[in-house]
Amino acid sequence: MSKRNLKIAIQKSGRLSESTIHLLRKCDIGFDNGHGKLKSLAFNFPLEILFLRDDDIPQYVADGVADCGIVGENVLAEAGSTLNIVERLGYGRCRLSIAVPRGSSYREIGDLNDKRIATSYPFLLERFLNEKKVRAEIHTIGGSVEIAPGVGLSDAICDLVSSGSTLFTNGLEEVETIMNSEAVLVVRPDLSADLTETFESLSFRMKAVNEARRNKYILLNAPNDSLEEIERLIPGMKSPTVLPLAEKGWSSIHSVIASEDHWLVVEKLKSAGAEGILVISIDQMIR
Ligand code: ATP
Ligand code: ZN
Repeated sequence: MSKRNLKIAIQKSGRLSESTIHLLRKCDIGFDNGHGKLKSLAFNFPLEILFLRDDDIPQYVADGVADCGIVGENVLAEAGSTLNIVERLGYGRCRLSIAVPRGSSYREIGDLNDKRIATSYPFLLERFLNEKKVRAEIHTIGGSVEIAPGVGLSDAICDLVSSGSTLFTNGLEEVETIMNSEAVLVVRPDLSADLTETFESLSFRMKAVNEARRNKYILLNAPNDSLEEIERLIPGMKSPTVLPLAEKGWSSIHSVIASEDHWLVVEKLKSAGAEGILVISIDQMIR
């Protein structure tokens, strides 16, 4: 009997779609994502990809229509989902925040008492207000929450924010953060043994891609008398590789450094006497 395909639910079109498709491709999973498709079968991995609205993903995974999914943590939390988060994926970062018209007299959370707050996240907002012992009127609306105060529908909003530019354009300012969110990989709890095996291969690849994104491969040449300092700057996964160059008194050093501060490290390496520095992106990294 051939293996059953693992089904993964991903967002059909929206802020997570492009990065999610990119992640699957980086995992070397080949599939056709032609427009308007509801599902697609990978041609080199036992995986079927279901393209869905993000709000539907927690339920589809919980019901077993899909075996796993990629969705924003905010969507899971709003649905009160108890699905297991296997991996945080580092994209789709945002926060669920309360914002009020800029220049309003807001000073503290108690100022929201008896106010009207528009949101698409009534569950999380209500829980937050209860924790803070604030009684406000929650208006649940499906979208374009940021225009609610401007049209007189509410006094404040509770919505997702990333750069804050949408709030700014609408004359709003962020005053409270309810939760931070990013895209996560979730799985249903009762997978069969063969699907568990496939899921583990998939999540192993995703972890390797994620780890690779956080790091860079670096190669450089250095005079031997600066080796000690350079080794301290780029300790690598275990220790850097040091190879003698044909030119006497010089070595070639290979290592791995964190992407987030690699420019700073490169400057220090240069000051320490390094030359011919190459910084290379990594596709997959397994520690
Ligand atoms: P769908 O049609 O699938 O229901 P949607 O309109 O509900 O899509 P998007 O706006 O595409 O959802 O956002 C998808 C996810 O992207 C959000 O749930 C959130 O996790 C993440 N996200 C990141 N930054 C933002 C942002 N500034 N605003 C909204 N969502 C963001
Ligand atoms: Zn949605």
